[in-house]
Amino acid sequence: MSTATTQGGPELPQERRLVTEIPGPRSRELFARKQSAVPPGIGTTLPVFVTHAGGGVVVDADGNSLIDFGSGIAVTSVGNAAPRVVERVRRQVADFTHTCFMVTPYESYVAVCEKLNALTPGDHDKRTFLVNSGAEAVENAVKVARHATGRQAVVVFEHGYHGRTLLTMTLTAKNMPYKHGFGPFAPEVYRAPLAYPFRWPTGPDACAEEAAAQAIDMIDKQIGAENVAAVLIEPIAGEGGFVVPARGFLPRILEFCRANGIVFIADEVQTGFARTGDLFACEDEGIVPDIICTAKGIAGGLPLAGVTGRADLLDSVHVGGLGGTYGGNPLACEAALGVLETIEQDKLVERARHIGEIMLPRLEALKERYPIVGDVRGRGAMVAIELVKPGTTEPVPAGPIAARCHAEGLLVLTAGTYGNVLRFLPPLVMPDHLLEEGLSILERAISQG
Ligand SMILES: *Cc1c(COP(=O)(O)O)cnc(C)c1O
Repeated sequence: MSTATTQGGPELPQERRLVTEIPGPRSRELFARKQSAVPPGIGTTLPVFVTHAGGGVVVDADGNSLIDFGSGIAVTSVGNAAPRVVERVRRQVADFTHTCFMVTPYESYVAVCEKLNALTPGDHDKRTFLVNSGAEAVENAVKVARHATGRQAVVVFEHGYHGRTLLTMTLTAKNMPYKHGFGPFAPEVYRAPLAYPFRWPTGPDACAEEAAAQAIDMIDKQIGAENVAAVLIEPIAGEGGFVVPARGFLPRILEFCRANGIVFIADEVQTGFARTGDLFACEDEGIVPDIICTAKGIAGGLPLAGVTGRADLLDSVHVGGLGGTYGGNPLACEAALGVLETIEQDKLVERARHIGEIMLPRLEALKERYPIVGDVRGRGAMVAIELVKPGTTEPVPAGPIAARCHAEGLLVLTAGTYGNVLRFLPPLVMPDHLLEEGLSILERAISQG
């Protein structure tokens, strides 16, 4: 194959290239093996098997090069096989692969924690510890909040997604596919309304104020603020459909938490690390969380997550009360240091804003032309469209349009409580021409109904 490369990363030709139908014969063969070896519970968005990826493309086993509007769900924000990540991991893997930080520590773990303490919102005294996944970060943030406050209740929001473990699936709003048949769920979890402007019954203008009032009333009447350990929220709801809470909602909830000794936990697992055009999405409204959970974009694809928060909260837990065998694995820590260098040196916060400036106007233009596009929203390189029956808020499934994009070599993801959202999460290093080409493919897919 003349186009074959031996290496991924940004050196891969930055082009869409279809040499077979999608998926091609080699991917179909591999998918048949997947179906006999892996349970169907592990779903597949697009059954092409990847051999290389980098910049804005994913290359499959048949030699097709697809435009990547997914970043492995907001993970490879610095690009796949990003050079600084590869170089650091390569060196580390030859030096040592694991000791367990709780047994014999190493510097890179501490360096990542120092960086997160410095870079996350707020200049108060902070501590960080590292775990393996977003779910594990959220679980641990709740553990810390309960331990520090001596309270039990946790308040979450409609359309929230926090993971798939027992506690985090309980914290997650959506039944299918995340919770169905997996109960009983964890106790002391309460759900409040989210300020979802497009779907707020009285319209977007009063949304922030009314939703916050309802949430606070629910807490006061159903739980009692003095029983609430933590309020947990995504500053932009990810799996729930890239719902950007109406401006003013987050500050009002934060203010209520501060007044009542409730720990405000921001789940920035999807929104963090430059994705939204700020290093963290909380910065947009000046929110300073008590605890912030990070994962996904933190380490360029290596499994890592962080819990960063007020020193007094994190220091309240007894010695040995936190941890895990692999948490802060040395390869993942080196990768995270490479990611942070890349974000800073390649100005990826600005790059995310630039991507938003390209995408949002083109999506707004789609909304003008095609009434199936009911709403366009998001910030930076985290943007989405919500599909509805023209003139209503009745959901139209996003699957068929996503499938047409996939067939044309554009990898897009769906989302939303009603499955009617197409979300776009390009790597922040994607060249403009691929971004524009991807949007043109999307437009054709929408124009076909
Ligand atoms: C993906 C995600 C999680 C869970 O992270 P995992 O690494 O899959 O466990 C939690 N919260 C949010 C907002 C997410 O997007």
